[in-house]
Amino acid sequence: KLIVFEGVEGSGKTTQIQATQSWLQELFSSAIPKRDVIVTREPGGTQLGAELRSLLLESRGEAPILSTTELLLYAADRAQHVEETLKVAIASGTIILCDRYTDSTIAYQGYGRGLDLNLIHQLNAIATAGLESDLTIWLDLDVEVGLSRTKGRGSNDRIEQEAIAFHRRVQQGYLELARQDPHRIVRVDASLSESEVRQQIQTILRQNLAE
Ligand code: C5P
Ligand code: MG
Repeated sequence: KLIVFEGVEGSGKTTQIQATQSWLQELFSSAIPKRDVIVTREPGGTQLGAELRSLLLESRGEAPILSTTELLLYAADRAQHVEETLKVAIASGTIILCDRYTDSTIAYQGYGRGLDLNLIHQLNAIATAGLESDLTIWLDLDVEVGLSRTKGRGSNDRIEQEAIAFHRRVQQGYLELARQDPHRIVRVDASLSESEVRQQIQTILRQNLAE
């Protein structure tokens, strides 16, 4: 199973993924056959991906990375991640919790940067070799609230420093995606408390894993 977490900066993906992993591991600890639960992310889920991630997130001053270059590097990260990590894990029945996947490319490079959505869909198809998420949990949060949360943790990457209008377009992208594909993409109100969000995710996953 491939379960993806999506959302704008500061929406709590990383925190909630960790909590979900602990909960699922506990849930499956006595299951037969035993099921592993792994956490991975994009960009940066492989060794090559970690290098691509630093290239993507560092500021380049006078010679910024072009939108198309950025798009291709995310796709390269994904192609490697799908083959090296995701497909292998799925083949062994592992449950994968993935921090960002194809919808991030649509939201950030498509809606955020304004690159052609058809082209992005084609590129996603190439990079994933058709591997789609079974479920995408969208942690929906106002961009202002999310960005103020990230300010507190002092790890501001290049994209977090984009203009607020950019982040609003990204948020709009997630909204459109959730409208178009309401079965695969499930919205969670990420403005709720950490434990309320955690419980909502558990409810969604209980249902999805029983399907
Ligand atoms: O989720 P995380 O904060 O680790 O993602 C790293 C950064 O990469 C974020 O700032 C996010 O905005 C950016 N990103 C992007 N396009 C993608 C995926 C991630 O701009 N397709
Ligand atoms: Mg970030």
